[in-house]
This record gives sequence, C-alpha cells and structure tokens, in this order.
Amino acid sequence: WTCNTVERAASFIGSQKSPICLPNYVAGRLTPLQSQPMALIDSFNPQTGSLLCKLPCTPASDVETAIQHARHAFTTWSKTTRRERSSHLRRISDLLQEHRELFAVWESIDQGKTLERARIEVDRAISNFSYFSTYILHEHTTARMVDGVALTYEHRSPAGVFALISPWNMPLYLLTWKIAPCIAFGCTAVAKPSEITSMSAYLLGLLLRKAELPPGVVNIILGDGPTTGAALVASPSVDGVSFTGGTQTGIAIRRATAHQIRKHLSLELGGKNPNLVFADAMDPATRDRTIRIAASAAFENQGEICLCGSRIYVERAVYEDFVREITEYVAEKYVLRKTVGAVASLQHYDKIRGYLQMAVEEKATFKLGGIPPALDKDQNQGYWINPAILTDVASGSVLQKDEIFGPVVTISPFEDEEEAVRLANDSEYGLAAVVLTNDGARMRRVGERIEAGMVWVNCWLVRELGTPFGGMKNSGTGREGGEYSREVFTVVRTLHLPS
Ligand code: NAD
Repeated sequence: WTCNTVERAASFIGSQKSPICLPNYVAGRLTPLQSQPMALIDSFNPQTGSLLCKLPCTPASDVETAIQHARHAFTTWSKTTRRERSSHLRRISDLLQEHRELFAVWESIDQGKTLERARIEVDRAISNFSYFSTYILHEHTTARMVDGVALTYEHRSPAGVFALISPWNMPLYLLTWKIAPCIAFGCTAVAKPSEITSMSAYLLGLLLRKAELPPGVVNIILGDGPTTGAALVASPSVDGVSFTGGTQTGIAIRRATAHQIRKHLSLELGGKNPNLVFADAMDPATRDRTIRIAASAAFENQGEICLCGSRIYVERAVYEDFVREITEYVAEKYVLRKTVGAVASLQHYDKIRGYLQMAVEEKATFKLGGIPPALDKDQNQGYWINPAILTDVASGSVLQKDEIFGPVVTISPFEDEEEAVRLANDSEYGLAAVVLTNDGARMRRVGERIEAGMVWVNCWLVRELGTPFGGMKNSGTGREGGEYSREVFTVVRTLHLPS
C-alpha cells in the first residue's frame, strides 16, 4: 500500500480496472493481515450493482493484535491532558472539513445515498470531532460537603480500550460519533465499520494518520460480524463496547459479554418509529410543514435511518387529505426529482422486496410504489426501489411491526389522542417518534407518554450533541452524547476527604 494520503488513495481506487482490497489501519499504518483471511469480502456500488472493492475478513488473531496496539497506546493516551486531546480532535475535524467533498463522494458511491445526503453526514461527522474537542475543555465534576465532616467528589478516568462497531446506513457519521468521544475521554479504540460500507472508514484511517494522531489510539479493522466483530467484542482485553446496529446483533453481543460484568456496553439498536399527525397540524398555516416533515421522516436516506418514522398514524378527520397530499409530495420530490438513493445492498434490496410482496398478499393498498423487479446478481443492476406508501394495512401486520429499514411507509387512521398513544407504543421498539400538532398542551401530554428515547414535535432529526441519544425497550441500552458519552467512556470513583 503506497497511497499515503487521502487524495492519492481516492484517485487510486477510482483509477483501478479491477477492484482493490482495502487494508486495515493498525498502529498508525495501513497493514496487510499477519494471517491469511478466511475469505475476502466483496463490496458493491449500490447505484450500479458493480463490484467496488474487496476487504479482508479479519480473523481473530489479527483482531487481537489490533487490540494489543490499542492497549499499548492507552498507557500514554490516557495520561494526556484534555488540552492535548482537544487539539488532536480539532485537527481531525479541520482535516475532515478540508476533505469534505472527497468523503461525501465516496460515501455516496459506497452506500448508495445521494451526494446531497452524504454531504450532510460528513458535516455531522466534522461536528462530532469539533463538539467533543471543546466539550472536554469545559466538563466539570460534582463535589459535595457532607455534614461539614467530609468533602466528597467524583473523579473520572478513561475506561480503557473500546470496540466501536457501526452499521452501514450512515457509515462515517456513526463511526465518528463513537471515535470522537472515545478518544476525547482518553480511551483508545479498535473500530469496525460494516462490511457493506468500509470505504469511508478506510479513508478516515489515512486522515487520522495525516492528523498525527499517535499510532494505536484508533485502529480500524475490516471484516464481517460473525468473524471479526464477534472476536473484537469477546476479547477479554476490550474494556467496553459501543455498538450501533440491529437488535438481534445487540442481543448476540450482550450474550457474548454476559460473563464479563466489567465490560461497558452501549447498545444503539433498531426502531420502528411512529409518526402521529393530529388534525390541527393540517391547518392551512402548517399543512405544508406537516407533509414535508412526515415525508422526509419516512424517506430521507431511502428510509435507511434508524430514526425514520415508518408508521404514520393520522387523525381520522384529516386522514384522506393527508394521504393524498403526502402521496403527491413524495411523488414529486423523491420520484420525479430523483432525490432518493439506492438501497445499500442486494441482500437488503431482497429483504425490502419481500416486505412489499407481503403487502400485496395482505391486500394493502399501494398509494405509491410497487414491487421492484428481482435482480440478477451478475447483471450489475443498481438496487433502486421507489418510495412505497401503503394504506389499508391489516392491524397486527408485520409491516407495522418489523423494521423494514427502507423506503416503505404505512399510514393508518386513529380516532382520538388515547388511541394515537396506544398505537404509537404498540411496538417492541422505542427509539424515536414524531408528533405533529399545533396544540401546545398536547405536545407535552402526548410527547411525555410516548415510549421512545427521542420525540420530535413538529420537526425531525434535529440534533444537539449534548442531549441523550438512545432508545427504550428493544431499541437499546445506554445513552450517548455529551455527558452521556462520558458515562460510556469513563469510570467514576467517589472520593471522601475529611474536611
Ligand atoms: P447489523 O447488526 O447487522 O450490523 C451492525 C454491525 O455489527 C456491522 O459492523 C456488523 O459487521 C457487526 N456485527 C454483526 N454481527 C456481529 C456480532 N455477532 N458481533 C459483533 N459485531 C457484529 O446491523 P446493520 O444491518 O448493519 O444496520 C442496520 C441496523 O442498525 C438497523 O436495525 C438500524 O435500526 C440500526 N441502527 C441503529 C441506530 C441507532 O442509533 N439506534 C443507528 C443506525 C442504525
């Protein structure tokens, strides 16, 4: 591997006739595996269906080597001052800003999302580093005087070496959402992106090197879940796991680490988020906003955002109007203007297609969309699915229970507030929700009863990096963001000193 800058690597990948194999980034270097991988993994361009690159399925022995480098780096990194760590994060953020377009282009090619969407996510990745670069300079601790006899205070230290594992839907943004706080609080990391979208993680390794982050502080290994991810999570040399992905994988990680009580676990998992539309939200003054929010919550990033509102419930009085208007809006904005990307993989395409076939069998009505054609793996066809809007979905249907995680939304009516809350909470998940209403009292009344970690009222995807991010029920345990990330990446001890 001779490409030692982000620019050269990107143009090299682009110029190759046959797909290259991405390397791991360990101890500050792009490294070939020490042992032979059992298999190379193919990674495809979702917009064309053609082979984009290959990556190693890093075996357990190489995973352990990366962990040992992170452990070695921890001995010095954990002792650096906040100011030193802050300037490292600031440098990474600045470099990412400099390479914004390059990252956005490759993220779009690798994941299938539109370039516009990829730019938003690179900007958010930049903010992840800049936010935590300043957060650590201003954090404070709690001290109390106990009955005048003792001074008690909380002392925190970095928790150790972390496994940081992320999914394929927002690859760079979600990986940096873990890397930035992890290293800001003095921990070191072995990070593993999804095997479906490893490109931006590879480029990030080069960028970290350019930023002169000390070797071993962040190591990036590539591979699948059962081989690479499982070895990383289970290693006794890993002190904590911050994982974002599906609920079933979260369960597997919990199981694999159940006997390691000391291991910090933060699990950000799946969702099937409700979006409640009350009749007053369709007043002339707010009608357009209501439609726009509901549509983007359903179809941004092809519905491949864990926070997407894929179950819309609408108050009966405005149900017909809402269905007609959102259908017209989505047909114009996403279909006609082609602002929806391709879904991330052929496997995911087939999964979504299966749900749409189920909708036909269940006699749901397609207000928009239909069943996409079966694709032939060898024909290099992109994984394009038009947004689907379904009504008349049978109550209790899996279409309203399972996380489809694609451009598919169901719309059903409700009679009153009580029923709206009941329907919203009728799910094993509890990640996010949207409430659309103009009634101030209802905003709080309904918002506070919804079983979800994040409730947006008359908005969606608004993010403040200090607020707790995470889910209730089967959507996860633990919260991340600001001081909540500090809980994940530090250990706390209480000191009692005689006064
Ligand atoms: P996934 O669970 O299949 O994979 C996520 C990551 O875990 C990948 O890197 C994968 O290689 C790895 N992995 C798989 N099995 C593993 C194992 N046994 N041990 C360790 N690592 C393992 O999820 P996905 O299909 O990549 O992503 C989609 C899911 O992610 C959806 O359910 C979505 O809701 C969820 N998600 C949640 C959030 C959130 O913040 N709550 C954000 C984005 C996506």
